Amino acid sequence: MTSDQFKKLSKFILKEMRMSHIYQPAMLIELLKNKGRASTEDIAKALVGYDKSQVEYYEHITKNMVGKVLTNSRGITQKEKDEYSVIGFNELSSGEVSELISCCENRIEEYLNTRNDPWSHRRKSSGYIKGTVRYQILSRAKFRCELCGISADHKALEVDHIIPRNKGGSDDQSNLQSLCYSCNAMKRDTDDTDFRGIRQSYEERVQGCIFCEIPRERVIAENELAYAILDAFPVTQHHTLIIPKRHTADFFTLYQPERNAIQRLLEERRESILAIDPSVTGFNVGNNVGETAGQTVMHCHTHLIPRRDGDTSDPRGGVRGVIPSKQSY
Ligand code: AMP
Ligand code: ZN
Repeated sequence: MTSDQFKKLSKFILKEMRMSHIYQPAMLIELLKNKGRASTEDIAKALVGYDKSQVEYYEHITKNMVGKVLTNSRGITQKEKDEYSVIGFNELSSGEVSELISCCENRIEEYLNTRNDPWSHRRKSSGYIKGTVRYQILSRAKFRCELCGISADHKALEVDHIIPRNKGGSDDQSNLQSLCYSCNAMKRDTDDTDFRGIRQSYEERVQGCIFCEIPRERVIAENELAYAILDAFPVTQHHTLIIPKRHTADFFTLYQPERNAIQRLLEERRESILAIDPSVTGFNVGNNVGETAGQTVMHCHTHLIPRRDGDTSDPRGGVRGVIPSKQSY
């Protein structure tokens, strides 16, 4: 007989849990493995265990440093294939095992109390920022990389100096930025671009702009930096507008991450339209830039216009039709 609670939990896990990362099932595993309870710290440690790059790093440390010292130099452990064991473990009573664990814990505490930052070797140069300041910078950046826009949910973010310390940069918050590890790895210490301006402008909205104020229920698809709605006066059925969330005039003032976001939504919408409407056999994709070119809403948007065989008597030339007499050639 399965219990009601089992049914409820398994229904949640299998059917209702909406995952934007592995965090929820990972947290539940940690809780379920520990009689249903765990501290924030233990849950956080369990989450780190799923971060492959972290685990790989410490596997390297184990094999090449601590494992070697304890096994080869000190003869305390032995290694067989991928497994380490304490030599003579079977001769220890459980009380003795507990006492040895306490001794280790004491040595760790003693060590941590006398060192400033035992993990500083992991950090890039002297620029790495930790603790509260790190958190403040990340929240200021809305937990996104200030260069490529990726969110902390998808890539680990690092906080470090805009103008590097060795170039006279200060530890003031105005000289700190949040970057994902890929962008930070590419950014050399000589690069003093201030990405904070970009970060701020991702948040830009203009009162009275229809595309800054589109009601949520009209959004049919979205990602971090862009969203899609159906055109209110469609040229053809399923005519979609893909719009950056930031208020910006046109295609040419988009940031690269927004272009990527718009591109992804274009592809997504194309797939959905083709799936629901087999009569669609082509598309026009385009931006009107400037009033001269026909732009009426001055918040950038890309038209995705589905086309069907015979929807116009002579489709030849497509977007060339912006000057009707020149459409065909
Ligand atoms: P453009 O001429 O490129 O600026 O295109 C503006 C597009 O926005 C037109 O295709 C309009 O039909 C469409 N449009 C205008 N107002 C709205 C609205 N409130 N909701 C959805 N689409 C709109
Ligand atoms: Zn706008």
